[in-house]
Amino acid sequence: MKESAILQCDDVTVEFDGFKAVRGMSLQLLKGELRFLIGPNGAGKTTMLDVICGKVRPSSGKVTFGGKVDITRKKEHQIAELGIGRKFQAPSIFPSMTVEENLEIAMRQKRGVFATLFAKTRGEDRDRIGGQLQMIGLPDKASWRAGGLSHGEKQWLEIGMLLLQEPEVLLLDEPVAGMTDKETDKTGELLREIARQRSVVVVEHDMAFVRSFASKVTVMHEGRLLKEGSMDEVQADDRVAEVYLGK
Ligand code: ADP
Repeated sequence: MKESAILQCDDVTVEFDGFKAVRGMSLQLLKGELRFLIGPNGAGKTTMLDVICGKVRPSSGKVTFGGKVDITRKKEHQIAELGIGRKFQAPSIFPSMTVEENLEIAMRQKRGVFATLFAKTRGEDRDRIGGQLQMIGLPDKASWRAGGLSHGEKQWLEIGMLLLQEPEVLLLDEPVAGMTDKETDKTGELLREIARQRSVVVVEHDMAFVRSFASKVTVMHEGRLLKEGSMDEVQADDRVAEVYLGK
């Protein structure tokens, strides 16, 4: 394994009632890398994210974090504590609380909820929340009820909540699904900023969005690695065209 690999999946296989959703998939993410995971529906992309964050146990294979920690059999909360944050498609925010309160809760989760449940938010925490509000583009909506935000804003709030837990690796599942063009552009900017400090894996269907980044792309098909490379290399591959266009 290269020394700078933050995440390594080796020969991962996942079976659901005898059906192999992932078949010997390997993936290496370098420190500071932003990687897109693409492929037709049912290719096994979400299942790979589920394996990495501990939601699904592989039937064989290995997942290594930070070059040395075997996380294959660890529980979801242990993996989160080690520094792998996962964002699902549906945002898990608290709709009746304000945007700011949602961010406060996320920050306290990092420290242990009970120790700090009644603690006052300190000055430095205020600064961090303020900085996070800026980063996700919601400083003017700090006192809004989260449930009243637009679809895109809810997604950004959840990303902000995840970032306050300081993950080294962020796993995002279709972050721009259902977004307007403007929201998609803003999400692109946010993702670029995040990738300056963290390693990120993004499952994405929006090819124009993927193309707007000069990032490495991994194509999965029927649970396997089909192709890896730049977007140009991937799109020039006949097998990739075949699975996308059904040629
Ligand atoms: P993708 O994200 O690439 O669309 P998924 O990882 O969601 O693909 O799914 C891969 C395959 O595994 C699909 O055929 C899907 O139906 C199947 N699958 C996913 N999760 C489960 C599950 N919990 N039980 C049974 N089959 C599943």
